[in-house]
Amino acid sequence: MSDSRIKRIRELIRDIPDFPKPGIVFKDITPLLSDADAFRSSIALLSEEFGDKAIDTVVGIESRGFIFGAALALNMHKPFVPVRKPGKLPSATYRIDYDLEYGSDALEIHKDAFLKGARVLLVDDLLATGGTARATAELISKAGGTVAAIAFLVELTFLDGAKNLKYFKPYSLIKF
Ligand code: AMP
Repeated sequence: MSDSRIKRIRELIRDIPDFPKPGIVFKDITPLLSDADAFRSSIALLSEEFGDKAIDTVVGIESRGFIFGAALALNMHKPFVPVRKPGKLPSATYRIDYDLEYGSDALEIHKDAFLKGARVLLVDDLLATGGTARATAELISKAGGTVAAIAFLVELTFLDGAKNLKYFKPYSLIKF
């Protein structure tokens, strides 16, 4: 049963070569979002995976992590917290700067996003090198949370990003 749902979700993730720059094959999730049944089952399958874990809050990473994170939070009856690009969150924030393959980036979270010791499920659409999720895990710690689990819709296994997150045993619904 879940195998056929996973097969359908996989079929709805489209490769866009050379986006956003030459040499990158972008995994486009918009066909999945356009299919109400498949989108719903992607959230149901992720909820099943984490339903029995003690989770207090779901954190999503801007911007596609908001789509899956917010839907998952609703389905799990948990609060949702956005981690955003610098300058977007209106109240006092913690910030993390991190290195990318070329250059660097930063993310922010509200200082009052959750209570100290909150068990957080961190969600993003895709695991590539793991740099973004790793930085976000550090940001969650700065804000007083504990990363209880990390979930992705898609993992690009050839990039070995899970190694970067091995302490957290990341979960991915679909692997390419
Ligand atoms: P990384 O930090 O390398 O794991 O990159 C993960 C972040 O970049 C996620 O927020 C993804 O949405 C985005 N990303 C990286 N590579 C791709 C790709 N090939 N297709 C779609 N999104 C990607």
